[in-house]
Amino acid sequence: MHVPDADVLSPLTLDGHFTFHDAPAMARDFGNRCSLLPAAVLHPGSVSDIAAAVGHVFSLGERSPLTVAARGHGHSLMCQSQAAGGIVVKMESLRGDRLQVVHGGGVPPFVDAPGGELWINVLHETLKYGLAPKSWTDYLHLTVGGTLSNAGVSGQAFRHGPQVSNVNQLEIVTGRGDVVTCSPEENADLFYAALGGLGQFGIITRARIALEPAPKMVRWIRVLYSDFASFTEDQEMLIMAEKTFDYIEGFVIINRTGILNNWRTSFKPQDPVQASRFQSDGRVLYCLELTKKFNGDDVDTMEQEVTALLSRLGYIRSTMFHTDVTYLEFLDRVHTSEVKLRAQGLWEVPHPWLNLLIPRSSIQIFAKEVFGKILKDSNNGPILLYPVNKSKWDNRTSVVIPDEEIFYLVGFLSSAPSLSGHGSVAHAMNLNNQIVEFCEEADIGMKQYLAAYTTQQQWKAHFGARWETFERRKHTYDPLAILAPGQRIFPKASLPLSL
Ligand SMILES: Cc1cc2nc3c(=O)[nH]c(=O)nc-3n(C[C@H](O)[C@H](O)[C@H](O)COP(=O)(O)OP(=O)(O)OC[C@H]3O[C@@H](n4cnc5c(N)ncnc54)[C@H](O)[C@@H]3O)c2cc1C
Repeated sequence: MHVPDADVLSPLTLDGHFTFHDAPAMARDFGNRCSLLPAAVLHPGSVSDIAAAVGHVFSLGERSPLTVAARGHGHSLMCQSQAAGGIVVKMESLRGDRLQVVHGGGVPPFVDAPGGELWINVLHETLKYGLAPKSWTDYLHLTVGGTLSNAGVSGQAFRHGPQVSNVNQLEIVTGRGDVVTCSPEENADLFYAALGGLGQFGIITRARIALEPAPKMVRWIRVLYSDFASFTEDQEMLIMAEKTFDYIEGFVIINRTGILNNWRTSFKPQDPVQASRFQSDGRVLYCLELTKKFNGDDVDTMEQEVTALLSRLGYIRSTMFHTDVTYLEFLDRVHTSEVKLRAQGLWEVPHPWLNLLIPRSSIQIFAKEVFGKILKDSNNGPILLYPVNKSKWDNRTSVVIPDEEIFYLVGFLSSAPSLSGHGSVAHAMNLNNQIVEFCEEADIGMKQYLAAYTTQQQWKAHFGARWETFERRKHTYDPLAILAPGQRIFPKASLPLSL
């Protein structure tokens, strides 16, 4: 492949600068399973720098092999934020200076955040005003532009929808190098295209995100089930109820007894004697995870509401654990695990993750096959499983979801620290492939989230009837297929589509 040298980029006058020595660092991501070396790294000093760089590549025409990938925090799983021989835009260079909270004046509060800002910094800033975004991801060291290019899903999505349902306005640099402000009222087609758009239509340089009053504290509760049907029945009842918890997730525990001991370090059992007698006996267990917000003076009301809600659930009574933490501690919980894993050298290992969206009508047969037959041993990482409501997802965005009122997010978040055996990439991929094959053969209407398809045929199948719109939007906003080449959806005319 022809790799452009610095001369190709020299006509550009920038507030920031290009570097070349750090290209290898931009050829890595959280997935740690593939590497595409870029030609140059842009550290933008302004939005104009991004527009100038993309506009310049556009002006070189389709015969130029140059592409441009926005890189958030590089937490993609399979090269999605990389660009072989292209330009990687380090979006984090533009954070901080433009983070602005607006409240009062008769409009609902919002924050204007740069596309490269980490969600944890958005939270720190908004908390200064007693406010916070409504919808989250489980982990906050991800960027605003990165999660909005996917969907951004967590345990608040049942109430508020994913993060893409909580954006009022975007500023975008299109694949032609134009800077466009868009919202449901202005340039709406580009607005909806970019939300969940996998970086295909433009680079998000600013997002206006809806805020709500932030609680000071949350009661964080975990209860266990051994029966999958009652676990999911309770989850569904809770996400549909008017008065309910504020966060509803769940995870699967396969053949692992130690996890209950882990809980005892940070979670208090409701009944210590009963809890100490509980034996998992190698059963597959299902943990329902919930929170309820409170501020301190309303602790009694919160406890009454929690008690009333829990009394309606069918969990194993001796397995009720809870802890009270600040809202910040709760939202930033995965970072606490990150710090521990980093210390053990277990963070920067390959992550052969598989994230699926499963229609409610198939979740029981899915569980029977996957947790009963395919996964026999404890997984090398959490297995998330929780339902969300389709009505909270806007079908004008580019996000692809199953066609059913309730569907489940099921995340197999494996780490692969060893080269062979149970902890290897090969082992995890073999299980992932079996799970996907089962879904395809049983034709259960599964859609992948954070998918890493390698051919346009696979992407067409993923988008189904929505492919036509996706393709039309690509021709409109990035006609030369300059942007986010690592998604491997649209090859640039002169580039072969291979890794
Ligand atoms: C530990 C961990 C936990 C996670 N938990 C969740 C979760 O709970 N829910 C969830 O939904 N996801 C979750 N994710 C996945 C996360 O949404 C993706 O990793 C996503 O890619 C965001 O990461 P990033 O900000 O580093 O973006 P990157 O990986 O750098 O980029 C992702 C894609 O978006 C493009 N892109 C990046 N910035 C922009 C921009 N400003 N404008 C346009 N395109 C852009 C890139 O080119 C790339 O194609 C998790 C990931 C990790 C590592």
